[in-house]
Amino acid sequence: MPNSFRAILVSRNEDKKQSVDIVKLTEADLMDGDVTVSVEATTVNYKDALAITGKSPVVRHWPMVPGIDLVGTVEQSDNPQFKQGDKVLLNGWGVGESHWGAYAGMARLDAKWLIALPSGITPLQAMGVGTAGYTAMLCVMALEKYGITPARGPVIVTGANGGVGSVAIAILSKLGYHVIASTGRPEEAEFLTSLGAKEIIDRAELSEPGRPLGKERWAAGIDAVGSHTLANLLAQTNYGGAIAACGLAQGFDLPATVMPFILRGVALLGVDSVSAATNRRIEAWSRIKADLDMEKLEAITTTIGFDDIILTAKALIDGKVRGRVVVDMSL
Ligand code: NDP
Repeated sequence: MPNSFRAILVSRNEDKKQSVDIVKLTEADLMDGDVTVSVEATTVNYKDALAITGKSPVVRHWPMVPGIDLVGTVEQSDNPQFKQGDKVLLNGWGVGESHWGAYAGMARLDAKWLIALPSGITPLQAMGVGTAGYTAMLCVMALEKYGITPARGPVIVTGANGGVGSVAIAILSKLGYHVIASTGRPEEAEFLTSLGAKEIIDRAELSEPGRPLGKERWAAGIDAVGSHTLANLLAQTNYGGAIAACGLAQGFDLPATVMPFILRGVALLGVDSVSAATNRRIEAWSRIKADLDMEKLEAITTTIGFDDIILTAKALIDGKVRGRVVVDMSL
């Protein structure tokens, strides 16, 4: 184990003004846990960008090492489930929010938050998927559990160029769905088509207040955006369809009416990745292995080093990042 390692530390002064620094830590500085992991790869998700920029209050313990996703090697374990040398994967569980996370050379974690890195997926691929991609898969699973199939009709994906959206498009298209991508970046149409989108619409069509019920346009949807967009998605869902809602990139409000629910039997399916049970995580990762084309994942992914995390987080909040960002800690 190294004597010291670099970490990103987010702090707050008495006036609650936030600052971000790259610091040196030792193992003794780490929070409690029963498994110590050397971090090989991580990623920059929307939530990580919120933690670093302070744009929304996602940090619940100060100071904080952000980073909600990691793949690493177990250095030391007091839990019989894991031993030194095991490759492990972590997504969420409040790590990077209330427990020091992935943006450090080492992390000390609770064994119940970890799963074995699925065989056949490399550390960098797993972080290419990350919480965003694993959430996209949870959304697909939620729609399937509700009975949605490709034969039912098109599926709309909002926030199409983002992490959740781009992975959702790649998975849905491999499963044979007709995917409609909603984006504010029409200049990325070619990219979205290469992922498997069959139609592209301007997100402005959905982001303003709309009618309680509109023309039926899709059988289902995956929404990473919330607010008026989610309300309009519901209002334009076919009879008996469903929308899986996981995000709030436009807003956390839901200015909708009950009309789609009571007149069209539309369902709103909530999706949470942070506290999802371990068996659902294992199922989602095994589905990712089967149903996400790794060549498409590569096309979605940009790889950066530790030194680029802070600037990338700012760019992500400004809507300037396409797809997924992987952090290779060896760079
Ligand atoms: P990204 O920042 O990668 O993507 C968000 C995308 O949303 C953007 O790329 C953009 O797509 C679109 N967007 C941004 N701002 C707006 C706006 N004002 N109005 C409409 N669309 C907008 O984030 P992620 O994909 O990683 O995460 C997406 C959302 O899902 C976030 O809110 C995140 O917190 C949430 N999330 C929730 C999880 C859960 O467990 N429920 C887990 C993971 C993420 P485009 O340019 O194509 O329009």
